[in-house]
Amino acid sequence: MSALDWFAHKPLGGGIYWIQERFYESGNRANIWLVRGSQRDVVIDTGLGLRSLPDYLHSAGLLRPGGGPGEAEGGDRRPLLAVATHVHFDHAGGLHQFDEVAVHSAEAGALLRGDNYETVTWLSDSEVVRPPSPGWSARQFRVQPVQPTHVLQEGDVINLGDRQLTVMHMPGHSRGSICLHDRDRKILFSGDVVYDGSMIDWLPYSKISDYVTTCERLIELVDRGLVEKACLHLDYECR
Ligand SMILES: [Zn+2]
Repeated sequence: MSALDWFAHKPLGGGIYWIQERFYESGNRANIWLVRGSQRDVVIDTGLGLRSLPDYLHSAGLLRPGGGPGEAEGGDRRPLLAVATHVHFDHAGGLHQFDEVAVHSAEAGALLRGDNYETVTWLSDSEVVRPPSPGWSARQFRVQPVQPTHVLQEGDVINLGDRQLTVMHMPGHSRGSICLHDRDRKILFSGDVVYDGSMIDWLPYSKISDYVTTCERLIELVDRGLVEKACLHLDYECR
């Protein structure tokens, strides 16, 4: 099976694309977001990483060619940064496929170690309805160690050229959970901080008191009119 078969995508408008791993049928399946900017594109979360997400993005024509400063006209690929909203396996498994990887400082060590306790790696054969390769077994699956190229903190701004994503440290579900806020467009990429369904606050590095504070920040964002759409975990629509 090629990478082209493994994923599906849908343009949501405004330079945002929803991407899904088609054959991972599980309530844990995380959405993958591609956000395109005038200077740089960003992938928010990367799925399990069973097939190459970068290959898919290029094969499906989702990435524009280079041509930015220092690049030959129509030449090299544009900068592509993979940002993990947190290191749980369903979001961080594909990070190793990218040259540039960003994660919050609180989980950078877990990613560097390939700490499959903190990444909460749990995958069964029945959830992967088409094996990515002959003889593949879920027991082999691990989040691979990755050296982050960008270690994020609260308030950092990821500059895509014509859009900026502000990092909000929102611990509770995990200690390094972040949301990415496009202030100009009032869009929040929320990772597992908020989604359809009951909130998960009982994982190894979950902390309920932090989650309460995080929820208060979320409510304030909405009350102040700073967020009108959220790109969530389970529901692929930005809404
Ligand atoms: Zn999670």
